[in-house]
Amino acid sequence: MSREAFVNGEYTEYINSKVHIEDRGYQFADGVYEVFAVLDSKIVDYEGHIKRLYRSLKELNIASPIQRKSYKFHIYEIIKRNIIQDGLVYLQVTRGVASRDFKFPKNSKSSIVIIGKNTSSNYYNNNFNKGIKVKTTKDLRWKRVDIKSLNLLPPVLAKQYAADNDCEEAWLLDDDGYITEGSSSNAWIVKNKTVITRPVSSSILNGITRSTLIKSLSKVGYNFIERRFNLNDIKNADEAFITSATQFVMPVIAVNNIKIGNGRVGEFAQIFKEIYFKYISLS
Ligand code: PMP
Repeated sequence: MSREAFVNGEYTEYINSKVHIEDRGYQFADGVYEVFAVLDSKIVDYEGHIKRLYRSLKELNIASPIQRKSYKFHIYEIIKRNIIQDGLVYLQVTRGVASRDFKFPKNSKSSIVIIGKNTSSNYYNNNFNKGIKVKTTKDLRWKRVDIKSLNLLPPVLAKQYAADNDCEEAWLLDDDGYITEGSSSNAWIVKNKTVITRPVSSSILNGITRSTLIKSLSKVGYNFIERRFNLNDIKNADEAFITSATQFVMPVIAVNNIKIGNGRVGEFAQIFKEIYFKYISLS
């Protein structure tokens, strides 16, 4: 079976899919994106992701290239045409094609690309059982990371730095030495049975996985507080983990080579993973 992509209104063979050389996404990272997890050929927390997509578009003054209700149709079409059971769908919208100029073009039509792929659930489960290691590095991103924009060079460099140091994720440090979030995930610690994560502001992405987990924690009565935490808090934490649409709940067993708790996947990570999967919406 050959993979298919949705590119500006057409379904095309993945390997032959093309966008214009003067697409502003390519030249200026002038666009936004969403990643939807797919489980059992269904979209996880669709409404949260589509709401955030529209918010990102609005903040950047980019028009949606298709009607709101059409997103679900095309995402499903990608799931069907690529026979995705468990995996992800990546969707990106840019300001479109125009002769290179920093100013917004007057009449450009926004571009859209949707692609998808299978990832085995074993892959997630194996990683979960091992846990991941984290490296901290300075948060060099712009001041509006609440917008899910294509402007991803700082997280790319941070993730590479983590990989070069034998870690799977980078946690980003603000100027005061507090963790903002992961390079592509939200960051959490657990101390004395209280779950801690940074409050939402323009310095973190309001993760959909984060929101779903918070809702589920409150339903099952876990203590939860939104506050900043630093390396000292991490050293004293009982557990740590990250959340994202592709990693769901993923335990962190070490930060900068310092073991978290006993250096093994903790009991809360296991519980939170189960609660999370119980409360996601599949549509
Ligand atoms: N923060 C950043 C910087 C991210 O890139 C992501 C992944 N998109 C997240 C948090 C987690 O967001 P979500 O749970 O919506 O995937």
